[in-house]
Amino acid sequence: MTILGVVVDNLTEDEALVQIDALIVAGGPHHIVTVNPEFVMEAQVNPAFRSVLAHADIATADGFGLLLAARYLGTPLRGRVTGVELTLRLAERAAAQGHRMFLLGAAPGVAEATAVVLQARYPGLIVAGAFAGSPQPRHEPFLRQMIAAARPHILLVAYGHPQQDLWIARNQPFLQVPLAVGVGGTFDYLSGRVQRAPALIRRLGLEWVYRLARQPSRWRRIMNAVPCFAWRVITQGRRTYRS
Ligand code: UDP
Repeated sequence: MTILGVVVDNLTEDEALVQIDALIVAGGPHHIVTVNPEFVMEAQVNPAFRSVLAHADIATADGFGLLLAARYLGTPLRGRVTGVELTLRLAERAAAQGHRMFLLGAAPGVAEATAVVLQARYPGLIVAGAFAGSPQPRHEPFLRQMIAAARPHILLVAYGHPQQDLWIARNQPFLQVPLAVGVGGTFDYLSGRVQRAPALIRRLGLEWVYRLARQPSRWRRIMNAVPCFAWRVITQGRRTYRS
């Protein structure tokens, strides 16, 4: 389905994983995006990002606001697939299947700490590399070399939106990683650097209240993701959805 012109695949977490397995078997480079309301808002004003989202192989719905918007637009989404859950499930499968994982992004040391957490949780997981790097284009030749030498099957990129997905789109033609996934703040959560909202709060769709309380500096982003997004869906959603 589309929400304000952005395609979201109506998949449960299990279905997404079945499709991901098929992509890895099929070979060639693939890109998975984990869409939330901020992505949709950014896509309204950023044509390059809109195009990258449109060309992704799978676009999961990561964000409670998307579930509400989809219901309002008349096509309820069957599941939510967050960056954190997707990372955990991918790591579990990678450990079982011998696939190598590369963790790129977040503040220095956070990708490495996330690798330690994942390897403790999924013994046998091969982390081919973990590095903060930078989303700036001038760092790309170095990062490409580093990742190409590590030959990962799965590349997780945590530069936040829209940088992480623009980064993947620019670099996948050179890297040809079977699966590249933009995972936002996932490493911050998994490494324990940032506290995730309790499961009940997440289920109630109140994660944004929790984030606002703990990270008030994000208020502008939260305004964009919650009231501005809701207003846009209500005023333009059905028109865009039909077109
Ligand atoms: N980040 C980074 N380099 C940058 C900008 C961001 O490594 O130049 C990282 C940041 O440290 C954080 C992640 O990108 O780990 C973005 O997290 P956020 O919660 O903002 O992600 P989103 O809400 O976009 O999923």
